[in-house]
Amino acid sequence: MSGNESRVQAIYQITNREPMPVKKTKPLSKIWGTDVFNLATMEETLSKNTYKSIKKTVITGTPLDPATADVVAAAMKDWAIAKGAKFFSHIFYPLTHATAEKHDGFVITDPEGRAMTEFTGSLLIKGEPDGSSFPNGSIRMTNAARGYTAWDPSSSAYIMHTENGATLMIPCVFMSWTGEALDKKIPLLRSNEAMNKAGQKVLSLMGETDIAPLSSSCGAEQEYFLVDSNFTNSRPDLLLAGRTLFGAASAKGQQFDDHYFGAIPARVQVYMQDVEDQLYRLGIPAKTHHNEVAPGQFEIAPYFEAANIAADHQQMLMTILKATAKKHGFTCLLHEKPFAGINGSGKHVNWSVGNSTQGNLLDPGKTPHENLNFLLFCGAVIRGVNKFGPLLRAAIASAGNDHRLGANEAPPAILSVYLGDQLEKVFLDIKDGKLTHSEDGGEMDLGLDQILNFERDPGDRNRTSPFAFTGNRFEFRAVGSAQSVSGPLIAMNTMLADSLNVIADKLEAEFTKGSDQTEAVISVLQELMNEHGNAIFGGDGYSEEWHKTAVEERGLKNIPTTADALPAFQEASVKELFESTGVLSPVELESRYEVFAEQYILSIEVEAKLVVSMAKTSIYPAAVQYLSELSMTSSSMAEMNIEMDDSTAKTVAAESNAMMAAVGKLSEAMQKEGFASAEEHMQFCANEIRDLMEEVRAHADALEAEVADELWPLPKYQEMLFIK
Ligand code: ADP
Ligand code: MG
Repeated sequence: MSGNESRVQAIYQITNREPMPVKKTKPLSKIWGTDVFNLATMEETLSKNTYKSIKKTVITGTPLDPATADVVAAAMKDWAIAKGAKFFSHIFYPLTHATAEKHDGFVITDPEGRAMTEFTGSLLIKGEPDGSSFPNGSIRMTNAARGYTAWDPSSSAYIMHTENGATLMIPCVFMSWTGEALDKKIPLLRSNEAMNKAGQKVLSLMGETDIAPLSSSCGAEQEYFLVDSNFTNSRPDLLLAGRTLFGAASAKGQQFDDHYFGAIPARVQVYMQDVEDQLYRLGIPAKTHHNEVAPGQFEIAPYFEAANIAADHQQMLMTILKATAKKHGFTCLLHEKPFAGINGSGKHVNWSVGNSTQGNLLDPGKTPHENLNFLLFCGAVIRGVNKFGPLLRAAIASAGNDHRLGANEAPPAILSVYLGDQLEKVFLDIKDGKLTHSEDGGEMDLGLDQILNFERDPGDRNRTSPFAFTGNRFEFRAVGSAQSVSGPLIAMNTMLADSLNVIADKLEAEFTKGSDQTEAVISVLQELMNEHGNAIFGGDGYSEEWHKTAVEERGLKNIPTTADALPAFQEASVKELFESTGVLSPVELESRYEVFAEQYILSIEVEAKLVVSMAKTSIYPAAVQYLSELSMTSSSMAEMNIEMDDSTAKTVAAESNAMMAAVGKLSEAMQKEGFASAEEHMQFCANEIRDLMEEVRAHADALEAEVADELWPLPKYQEMLFIK
């Protein structure tokens, strides 16, 4: 197909498509958790004693004995086979943002040639994928490939269905033969434990006697775009890089603000319900869905769960969003910035910590100034954000997220904390050595009889803050839509553990001095506020003024790119943080730095290659074709002595030449080798390569505005964003 024929075809296909047959969805009670081998399923299928033993393992993390593992494995196999599974897979979470699976059949044969099925405790507990092809930084060489996966019993096994079969999936950790974590689950579990230990210390110093284990919770709001796959198939950039590398702005974008919370298009609604039914079967509590700000952009948010489970569920959710989109003729784009000039996508990670005895320790109650436990935990978060802001930035650094952060639509690349009016006042009082009162939000009275008055929240929301307190949790708003939530959760849990440890030491010193409880808390928090209160900011995070004061007066860092952010992993204070809390050894931390740096460089290299090839093989030919048509017309006109304006031809020629000159520079830059360090290589990508890509794009987009529509080969923004 040439010129815009593929575009015309795509539009034809979309406007003539048969609607997806609407399946009658079953009631929640009929489908909830039916594909999960959870405690309830185990209670039904196991003997009382075995069930008691596995329950203890699941809930308290005590080791599983081999005999129990065998019985559980057998029950799991029977359950899975009854659901149509012939294969099982250890699923794990390598250092990329993806998941990894290695499938094995249940099948074995007997000497007579009959097929039997086998699944033992040891197959359940331990797997041995050839790990050498997973990114591992400097931990293992390819000649030392052995890696292990091991079942995490706290995360239930489940069935993943495809059109044609089912697979039993077993959530696992992934480690090297030398025992180093090669995944995101191990450090997440360790960070939770570090936070638990430190939190227990603080609570017991505060006189609590009955303290259940503390655990972190996460509820992640996932934003995404849906584009008809007829369009994506004609856009190599969307197919391979997940974002458009070219594309002139559409006359209508999001300026009318008419998409946010608008009526959900019927085709999308059918898609969402299909996704949600699958999630419910997997025991994932999808709770909210709505249109997002940009045309073609949507959000889904499950109800919050324990961080480890939420992280596993989040990965499944991304997989299901993408796979189901295909079924419905869509491509689901999880990239942080698929379309220039249109809002990008984030993943707001709502995070809190608590236990069954003290409850949510980030819930201030009505009178925060009297809730000393809350004040200590909240103060610990403030210290964490101030001290480890660059680490939090590094934890959400990726080539995709760089397009979003600081682009006046998403939080700036400066880490600050928003507390809301009420709490900000309480903490400012503490800074002055006072702890006397908290203001409430008052009553909302519209003066309308039919609308009941209600209590107003004591603080507003602030969407310009990267890290905002939202009533009973913090919301890390700067996380990218394609990212795993584990990285940010690990960073948050670990910084909190460190702060709680410091607070515990200081409290202890105060008590030794003879201070009473309130005096001790005020004194500890006053010192903390003096040292770390600078991170608290309630104003407009997008404003230029904040960018100036944050850096010049507050001493916070503005870290625009991944190349600037990742070196935080190599800072002494960060190494010390992870080592002292036992979350990551120096080798594990260094390997993460190397893997993330490599991922960043590779992503930009793929994009640069696409820019070169699309400019050369799609855009330039279209421009030349148009020039040839213009010049033919011009000569025919000249023969008839009719004067033609030649400005379009001149513009097209000039832009084509300029684009190809930029392509030449970009190709040459891509040849560069021999960087002294990963950091230098990243900086080169972040600056030189990205700038040259932008330069090519600027000319290509100018051409899109000039070249006859019928010759333009790539689906245009207005088509991809508005035709559904
Ligand atoms: P928003 O109004 O910010 O868009 P949503 O309802 O879309 O809020 O999402 C809020 C998310 O925060 C949900 O996943 C919700 O379950 C989660 N959440 C609520 N309370 C807590 C908590 N205490 N800890 C962690 N997450 C929470
Ligand atoms: Mg939301």
